[in-house]
Amino acid sequence: MEVKRCSRCGAFYTNQGYVCSKCTTKDNFELSQFKDFVEENGVEIDSLSQVSHQTGISEKNLTRFLDYEGLEGYKKLFK
Ligand SMILES: [Zn+2]
Repeated sequence: MEVKRCSRCGAFYTNQGYVCSKCTTKDNFELSQFKDFVEENGVEIDSLSQVSHQTGISEKNLTRFLDYEGLEGYKKLFK
């Protein structure tokens, strides 16, 4: 079994996914907030720090989300 380290809380975990099971709910919640924000403000967003400021999601987490499956298109917005 592959042991991974949660990038949110630092705990080790073996479940599927990008973060440990304790952080999954929060991670999914922030991910959907991020998606909603981009959908509403797409062309007007200049930077991740702006997103972070307006959504309250940390830049570190936003940067991680850009590597998530299905968000490939978002990377272009923040180059
Ligand atoms: Zn965690």
